[in-house]
Amino acid sequence: MMAQMPLVDYLVLGAPPYLRGTVCADCKAIYLDRRFACGRCGGVQFTSRRLADTGVIRAFTVIHRAAPGIAVPYTSVIVDLDGGGVVKANLTGDPDPEQVRPGARVHLCTHDGATDSNGDVALVFSYELDRVVEGACA
Ligand SMILES: [Zn+2]
Repeated sequence: MMAQMPLVDYLVLGAPPYLRGTVCADCKAIYLDRRFACGRCGGVQFTSRRLADTGVIRAFTVIHRAAPGIAVPYTSVIVDLDGGGVVKANLTGDPDPEQVRPGARVHLCTHDGATDSNGDVALVFSYELDRVVEGACA
């Protein structure tokens, strides 16, 4: 039977899908994925919360060389999420290079990734620039 599963466990399948942050109970630092201890304060108690689907580009780079089978060029971004959290991901949706800059607003998008031998599909995420229709994904 075909199923959809997230490629990373901090991508939560919902309607719509969202990222889940791991939050230090002591200093409120936000991480993606599981942590044994907080890198900022050493705390070992964590909670989790839904992170915003929107944010701004902190930094970006255009990748021109990659492993065989990976299409280039593509744009990798570091996104400061609204309300906290920092995510590294790809910028998709055929972004206009003139619009890709620090401070540009982006929103979360999900896509079907690789399919395994059972037909199960890995759901991956990226960000797209806010354009004509805010929140819309290509
Ligand atoms: Zn902490």
